Amino acid sequence: MSDLIRVHEPKIVAVANQKGGVGKTTTTINLAAALSELGWKILIIDLDPQGNASTGLGIDIEARENTTYELILDDAMLQDVILPTEFENISIVPSTVDLSSADIELIANEKRSFLLHDALRQPAMEQYAFDFVLIDCPPSLNLLTVNAMVAAHSVLVPLQTEFFALEGLSQLMLTIREVRQSANSKLRIEGVVLTMFDARNNLSQQVEADARENLGDIVFRTRIPRNVRVSEAPSYAMPVLEFDSQSKGALAYRELAKEFLMNNEMTKG
Ligand code: ADP
Ligand code: MG
Repeated sequence: MSDLIRVHEPKIVAVANQKGGVGKTTTTINLAAALSELGWKILIIDLDPQGNASTGLGIDIEARENTTYELILDDAMLQDVILPTEFENISIVPSTVDLSSADIELIANEKRSFLLHDALRQPAMEQYAFDFVLIDCPPSLNLLTVNAMVAAHSVLVPLQTEFFALEGLSQLMLTIREVRQSANSKLRIEGVVLTMFDARNNLSQQVEADARENLGDIVFRTRIPRNVRVSEAPSYAMPVLEFDSQSKGALAYRELAKEFLMNNEMTKG
């Protein structure tokens, strides 16, 4: 890439599903890690008051002085909230439990749905030259998630391959449609990624078949297998790609990154 002055607008992707425990945070961290390995520059926005993405990337609580809360509700400057991580090419705006009151505080704000959108479009954004912003959404369709969808170019939906997985998706799709109609007409669906897939389990196969039949092309070909290394990595504050680089989970997230880049017609160089 040249050093010429360039207008650098990152692609913003909201990782969303109102169900908890489906792999949003895991996908955010490991897709970021896989993209960063390929040389892309990533900013993660931790939009979940649980702060799992922050913890999973080794950001100590004491280091979280300025967080997503300040970014959204206190007009904080990007420079004051973006932290580097130990991982090359990955930065983060961390969150803490303080963010749990944001949903209610937002209601009284006239620009309640647009605050994250505006925050991510501060002029300073260009200087960071991020290629992608991944927003790790909370497990709910609240105003924080709406902020993510209004700010984003697309929504990436992790779908846990288990019974009832498809239930709740219609509600998510409805919310996406509402956001398109009201605030962000260009919002796309980046894709649905099957997570915690167990090839030996008939149920996983059935859920995959149902998802592909009902959702068609938007389902990524790459499936993320259930892999214990994936679940161990956060307690070592690492993406699984660092923790166990050749584990099945790591390989799958690298595949997902390739498919994601291909869908976006993005190549390096
Ligand atoms: P969410 O952010 O949607 O709540 P998480 O990403 O935190 O979901 O995942 C929920 C739990 O499942 C976590 O304990 C995580 O480590 C585990 N997990 C996620 N993906 C996998 C996987 N592919 N294999 C095994 N465990 C996984
Ligand atoms: Mg999470």
